[in-house]
Amino acid sequence: MKARYRYRIYPNQQQQTNFAKLFGCCRVVWNDALALCRQSKKLPKNGDLQKVCITQAKLTEGRQWLSEVSNIPLQQAIRDLGVAFNNFFKSLKGERQGKSVSRPKFKKRHNRQTARFRQGGFSIKRNKVYLAKIGNLKVKWSRPLPSEPTSVTVIKDCAGRYFLSFVVEVEPETKSPLYPAIGIDLGIKTFATLSNGVKVNSPDYSKLDRKIRKAQRQLARRQKGSRRRERIRLRIAKLQAKIRDTRQNFLHKLSTKVIQDNQLIALEDLNVSGMVKNRKLSRAISQAGWREFRTMCEAKAQKFSRELQVISRWQPTSQYCADCGFKWGKLDLSVRELVCLNCGETIDRDSNAAKNIKNVGVGHTHDAKWTGSECKTSIEAVCGELSTHLKYEQLRLFDC
Ligand SMILES: [Zn+2]
Repeated sequence: MKARYRYRIYPNQQQQTNFAKLFGCCRVVWNDALALCRQSKKLPKNGDLQKVCITQAKLTEGRQWLSEVSNIPLQQAIRDLGVAFNNFFKSLKGERQGKSVSRPKFKKRHNRQTARFRQGGFSIKRNKVYLAKIGNLKVKWSRPLPSEPTSVTVIKDCAGRYFLSFVVEVEPETKSPLYPAIGIDLGIKTFATLSNGVKVNSPDYSKLDRKIRKAQRQLARRQKGSRRRERIRLRIAKLQAKIRDTRQNFLHKLSTKVIQDNQLIALEDLNVSGMVKNRKLSRAISQAGWREFRTMCEAKAQKFSRELQVISRWQPTSQYCADCGFKWGKLDLSVRELVCLNCGETIDRDSNAAKNIKNVGVGHTHDAKWTGSECKTSIEAVCGELSTHLKYEQLRLFDC
């Protein structure tokens, strides 16, 4: 399987200038090619696009500076555009797993900038990475590369940091002793409640978030194109990068731990994009990163040969006692703890949900109606179930 390894780099002044040129050229080539694709009825072939947007463009006065940079990332930009269109079409036809892909967009100058080098455009020599027409780069090797990389992407993020991102082939771990199964219930303040009773709190982003909101209000008052506006933009980008880094660090550590310690991991399939539409909660939900967590778990499950079960979002995981299967029905959100009428056990709401998720994940459940993936929900059923589902209920409570 393929994996990405990312390292920070510190290019010198000359290299930064060269990178700026390279990013600009890649962006222009991408945008020119995309404009052509949007104009024509049938998607032009890769080779034709390269001919028009690179080879011929270099001869024109407006684009002759394209020959100042390496040709490899420029060709790659067009190839990547082809892949982006392909993914978009596949997503439209429903042939693609995961989140739906929107159609390729024009690249902007102030967004994250990238340029990708394939084999032949880069080499690694004695701790340094050589890029065509850029030179040798000093890299912070935070961990060793597991194998020879097939490509490298140079990234400059909005906060002005530079990274190299390598694509490498990694061997999935095959032998694994028998580990237990676990269910995970995701929330906002308590990010994860595990079925073994462990609760993991989410990092607190509220302080940084308040700073961002204040800066965003200032940004709105600044004149477009002014230096003061640019300064605020950079400040916001740095704060956002900080939140993102904190979250990714937290999610990576948690997902690695959960995957390494367990053989089967059951997660709930949350309708994140639907929930984000709720204005009051959207910020907290996006910052929590549930979807990101699932993506990480999926990748790591593959890497360590573990099984990841994503259970249907219509499972009423908070309506049953996980120990005896007694159904108490819908609960008010304020109820965090309750005593089961049947078995007399004192139950924490989130732990109970996590246990139920685990039970469904491993295929044990008290109600045959909810077992396995056979339960298909028709549209009518979906509408009926909405009111019984905890997460939606939660959102509705916040609405009024
Ligand atoms: Zn019970």
